[in-house]
Amino acid sequence: MSHDGDLPAILGGDPVRAEGPPEWPPRDEEIAAVFDQLARTGDWGRYHGPHTEQLLSLLRESHRVEHAWLCSSGTAAVELALRGVGVEPGDEVVLSAYDFKANFVNVLILGATPVLVDVDPQTGQLDVQAVPAVLTPRTKAIVISHLHGGVVDAATVRELAADRNIAVIEDACQCPGITIADRPAGACGDVGVLSFGGSKLVSAGRGGAILTSRTDVFERIRRHVLRGNDAYPLSELQAALVVPQWRQLAARNTQRAGAAQQLVAELAPLGGLIPWQCPKDDFVPGYYKVGFHYRSKDFAGLSREAFCRAMRAEGVAIDPGFRALHRIHASRRFRVSASLANAERIDATVVTLHHPVLLEESNRLLQVAAAMRKIQRAAERLVARKDLSAVHATSLSEH
Ligand SMILES: *Cc1c(COP(=O)(O)O)cnc(C)c1O
Repeated sequence: MSHDGDLPAILGGDPVRAEGPPEWPPRDEEIAAVFDQLARTGDWGRYHGPHTEQLLSLLRESHRVEHAWLCSSGTAAVELALRGVGVEPGDEVVLSAYDFKANFVNVLILGATPVLVDVDPQTGQLDVQAVPAVLTPRTKAIVISHLHGGVVDAATVRELAADRNIAVIEDACQCPGITIADRPAGACGDVGVLSFGGSKLVSAGRGGAILTSRTDVFERIRRHVLRGNDAYPLSELQAALVVPQWRQLAARNTQRAGAAQQLVAELAPLGGLIPWQCPKDDFVPGYYKVGFHYRSKDFAGLSREAFCRAMRAEGVAIDPGFRALHRIHASRRFRVSASLANAERIDATVVTLHHPVLLEESNRLLQVAAAMRKIQRAAERLVARKDLSAVHATSLSEH
C-alpha cells in the first residue's frame, strides 16, 4: 500500500474519489413517487395517456412553439427534423465539422450530402461567418448544435437562412431549458430537437422530442411516423418520468452553471484546461458536458488520452471530446469548401467533464481540481509511462 498521497491512482495510488464519478440519474423522491403512481394506476402499460399529453403541452409552453412531437431518441428526432424540412436525396445539409456523429449519419441516411464547416476557435461552436461561402442552391438545411456549454450564434444563422429559404434545425440535446438571446433553446430555428437519453440532463433512459411552429414541418413528420402505428414512440411511462424533471430543470441548470463557474475559477491558476467561451451577459449555459481545450505543455507533454485515463482513475469523468467528422468519415461522403483547421485542432485538444458532478456539494466538486493538481504534479512520471498514451478507440467518448 502506498502512503504517498501524490501517487496517481493509475500508478497504484489512492484515488481522489474512491467511489468514482456520481451516478446519473440521481436518486430522487419525486421520481420514486412517479413509479409508485404508475404502478398503481397501470399507466405504465399505456401507449398514450395523460402523461404524454402533459409533457407535450409543457414542451409547447416552455418553448413557445405551436407543435411538439415525442419520439424514441434525439437521434430519431434529428432524422425526423431533417425529413420534416423536406431534405431529399441530392440535397445538401450544412453542419459543424465538430458535431455529434449521428447528426452527420442522419444526413447520409436521407441520401443528402453533409457539408462541413469549421468551428470558431474561441467558442468551439459552428463558425457562422464561414457558412455563407458553402451555401448553394442545393442547400436545404443548416444544423446548429450547441455543444459542451457553448451556444451557436443562432440569430446570425437564422438571418442567413431566411434570405435563401433554407431551414434551420437546432440540436438542443446538450442544453435543454436554457435561453439564448431571449429564445428558448430548441426554438431558435425552424425545428428544435431534444434528447431524453440515459446520460442526458433530462432522462427517461431513452427518448426525444421535436419542437416547431411550422405546421407544414409538423405534418410531414407526422405522416412519416404514423404508419397505422407510431414508428418511433415515446411511451406513457417515459413521459411520466420526464415531466417532473422538466419542472426541476431551470433550477438545476442554474445550479450546474454556478458549479461550472466555480470549477473554472479553481482550475484557472493551474493552466492546462482552457474553458470554452460562451456568451457573458445574464447567460445561464446548459452543461451536459463542460468543454475545455487540453494544453499538454502544462502537463509536461502528457497526451490528452493519458490525462483523461489518469483522471478517470482518480474517479473524475473527464474524456476526450467528439472526433471531428471529417477525420472519421471517408471524404467522398461529404463536402467541405474552406479550411477545417480549427475543427482539426479541437479534434485533438477537447476534453469534456460529464455533468453529474456539477450538482454535488462544493467540497466534492473541488475534488475535480484536486485530481487535476495531482496529475499535474505527477505529469513527468506519467509521461515516462509510454503505455498510458496509446489511443484505444474504446476510450474515445461517443457523447
Ligand atoms: C445525445 C445527443 C444527441 C442524440 O441523442 P440520443 O437520444 O442519444 O439519440 C444528439 N445531439 C447531441 C449534440 C447529443 O449530445
